[in-house]
Amino acid sequence: MTAYLFDPPAVVSVPVQDGDARFPVRRILCVGRNYAAHRREMGGDDRDPPFFFAKPADALVLPGVDVAYPQATANLHHEIELVVALGAGGADVSVEEALNLVYGYAVGVDLTRRDLQAAARDKGQPWDAAKGFDQSAPISPILCGSGTPPQGRIALSVNGQPRQDAAVADMIWNVAEIIAEASKLWRLAAGDLIFTGTPEGVGPLVRGDAVEGEVEGVGRLAFKIV
Ligand code: MN
Repeated sequence: MTAYLFDPPAVVSVPVQDGDARFPVRRILCVGRNYAAHRREMGGDDRDPPFFFAKPADALVLPGVDVAYPQATANLHHEIELVVALGAGGADVSVEEALNLVYGYAVGVDLTRRDLQAAARDKGQPWDAAKGFDQSAPISPILCGSGTPPQGRIALSVNGQPRQDAAVADMIWNVAEIIAEASKLWRLAAGDLIFTGTPEGVGPLVRGDAVEGEVEGVGRLAFKIV
């Protein structure tokens, strides 16, 4: 048996909607600027393709857990996203084969320290501090299902007021294309989660806010900022 200097970190896992076995998380990839209207609201060029960044697995916020307003920001933003959960992996996967890697889908929020992101962008620095901080990735239970990806409504409200309301079908890269593109850059594996980007309407959260999100046909999530 391997001797460790201290207890290794626990495996992060997400509940599955129908079943007791949990989905063990390997890594979290995220797509940036995958909806044209959000790309415009962020000041992006309409010709720029989407791209990837990452969050650590232990940034996940599991169902029923509230989010402590993070340190080092005065402008925490919500980004509602469809999350793809992979049950298989591979490298250089074709678009035609990509959906075979899907285990299921979840609803996620890509919490963002927008002030740190803007500062990093201005200086040409990485986004890790803006995106990959503690409790930056609330997620719903995973819905098992590898058929046609969700296409319907994706929406988020804060204290009952609508903030984001769009359709998953508006994504620039669809789910199969996202998986194929990611597999050109990394060897994907079972346990990988991919946050697929947010539509327009991102905005600030403050302590006391109650956040609710949904993706039609996938599920809902709810948490408070405390
Ligand atoms: Mn995002």
